Amino acid sequence: MSAPRRALVLTPALALLVACTAAGPVAPDPSAVAPTSTPVTPSGTPAADPTPAPERIVVLDPGHNGGNGRAGTEITRQVPDGRGGAKACNTTGTSTDAGYPEHAFAWDLASRVRAPLEAAGVTVVLTRGSDDGVGPCVDERGRAGQEAGADLVVSLHADGAAARGRGFHVAYSSPPLDAAQSGPAVDLARDLRDALRAGGFPPSDYTGRDGLSARPDLAGLNFATVPAALVECGNMRNAEEAAVLSSAEGRERYATAIAEGIRTFLTGLSS
Ligand code: ZN
Repeated sequence: MSAPRRALVLTPALALLVACTAAGPVAPDPSAVAPTSTPVTPSGTPAADPTPAPERIVVLDPGHNGGNGRAGTEITRQVPDGRGGAKACNTTGTSTDAGYPEHAFAWDLASRVRAPLEAAGVTVVLTRGSDDGVGPCVDERGRAGQEAGADLVVSLHADGAAARGRGFHVAYSSPPLDAAQSGPAVDLARDLRDALRAGGFPPSDYTGRDGLSARPDLAGLNFATVPAALVECGNMRNAEEAAVLSSAEGRERYATAIAEGIRTFLTGLSS
């Protein structure tokens, strides 16, 4: 049935996971995800410690990809949506009116979120290794968390809504399809929402509620069996918000807030 195709599809994505973590311990086989010789904390937890502090692994999923626009056939092919239906492998994403593309925003943002997490000893895995490739498809992105043995997944996007709307929203899979989606994913979404709001970003005034959005249609969330949430940082079609999304300073502010939300969730796992 679908097994051979799935194996073929997954291989390039896993290659990306490896390629983008040159210094990290992540390997395609989940059984190989456990730390080996790479120190995972700045303080240098001894590898031989029989009860080391748990290694924390975070998957960051920068939305879309820079090559999607020239790969129409590949990108529009139908893949499972996680609820018995199908949807396009991926999309090109949106852009500001000035032409700053969402995929570039997401890629830059991912590197900015990654840095403070790694500085705190967290292993970070990205779902794509560059901003000029194609895909991966949304179903592959949705499985990336469990394949990396991750504690959580955060997908990074910006929206392309009507120009008057502004504000962020954080989506989670609903109705839930597994234990992670039934509670922990909502907690993650709330932690991200709270951190963004504390960082001075307004919740969306055009979709969701209080900065949260329950979504049945996002395959990248539907397939996750670890806590997963998708952040739409703002509306690229809103002039005021586009200015923030387009600036390095603005992206750094988003990244600081998102990393803080992730840290809050990880701290909850340890307590
Ligand atoms: Zn997007």
